[in-house]
Amino acid sequence: MKRERVVIIGSGPAGMTAALYTARAQLNPVVIVGNQFGGQAAITHEIENYPGFIDPISGPELAEKMKAQSERFGARYEWDSVTGMDLSERPYKVETHNETYLADSVIIGIGADPRKLGIPGEKEYTGFGVSYCGTCDGFFFRGKEVVVVGGGDSAFEEAIFLTKFATKVTIMYRKGEEDLRAGVQLQTRATKNEKIEIMYNTVVNEVKAGENGAVSAASITSNGETYDFATDGVFIFIGHIPNSDVFGGQLATDESGYLLTDERHRTSVEGVFAAGEIQDPIWRQVATSVGQGTAAAMSAIHWLEEHEDELQPLDEEPEAV
Ligand code: NDP
Repeated sequence: MKRERVVIIGSGPAGMTAALYTARAQLNPVVIVGNQFGGQAAITHEIENYPGFIDPISGPELAEKMKAQSERFGARYEWDSVTGMDLSERPYKVETHNETYLADSVIIGIGADPRKLGIPGEKEYTGFGVSYCGTCDGFFFRGKEVVVVGGGDSAFEEAIFLTKFATKVTIMYRKGEEDLRAGVQLQTRATKNEKIEIMYNTVVNEVKAGENGAVSAASITSNGETYDFATDGVFIFIGHIPNSDVFGGQLATDESGYLLTDERHRTSVEGVFAAGEIQDPIWRQVATSVGQGTAAAMSAIHWLEEHEDELQPLDEEPEAV
């Protein structure tokens, strides 16, 4: 078992910013990277709304820079994922595939995963035409036609991005135009884009594949009529689900599973803090996650200072960096 002052779960902008702040406070934090280094931001093609970068920066590049900056002050990154936690007593137990950490404080920045439609063919053909990431998979659809499911900012933004590759992008939204959640600017850009068509009151019932095992059609019901719509790919952007399973009900969440935090980013368990999408269903921006990661780290630093007398010595005191 490894004793740690701070264990940070997740390596998105929230987690890596918390790593930077706690590292600069000489706490030698360890970051459990998780399945996706850099989080959702790292699979974003271009980020042009993160302050300080006049030209767009790619998600992977920004993630590498955040990591390197925190490492400069002593943050450590473990390419491992959390499998469970025991928050019933301090130090808290954080289990990963390779290690058990005993942590005085925990900062959770574990994010959220794409919501699934839950229709036949979706799971079977993921990677064979079904995708949740335009940036990751758009390139494979050069010269092809794709369907985008959803009516929020993500669906519209990704649909516009996919027109770089696909010859035609059909957005399918289950309700009417007046119900769209996508911002007006994105709607205008999509409407003006000749490669994009929007089908309202349209539900995808099933994803079908051809003899080669790749997606060939989506069975849809559009304005009451059910038929097969020929397509090479189905991109699904219907929101996210917070990764709250690993907490095993030990932390208070809202009804959707997002962690409940107070204004100091404290969770319902003392010494456990959270930042980024795991506790933020609304803003979901790199800049807001960075701000939340900062606040969570500062709270953790203060909390550790306040409880200094109760903390057991570490196996090895961290070296000053
Ligand atoms: P949203 O929750 O905003 O939208 C999800 C969309 O998917 C809705 O249109 C919803 O339909 C639809 N949907 C949900 N479940 C299903 C289902 N089972 N079947 C079919 N359709 C379904 O998610 P987003 O990921 O788009 O955005 C989340 C947040 O991130 C928002 O706050 C958004 O503003 C932000 N964001 C901002 C960006 C930017 O500023 N550039 C880019 C991307 C996201 P219905 O409307 O009927 O509920």
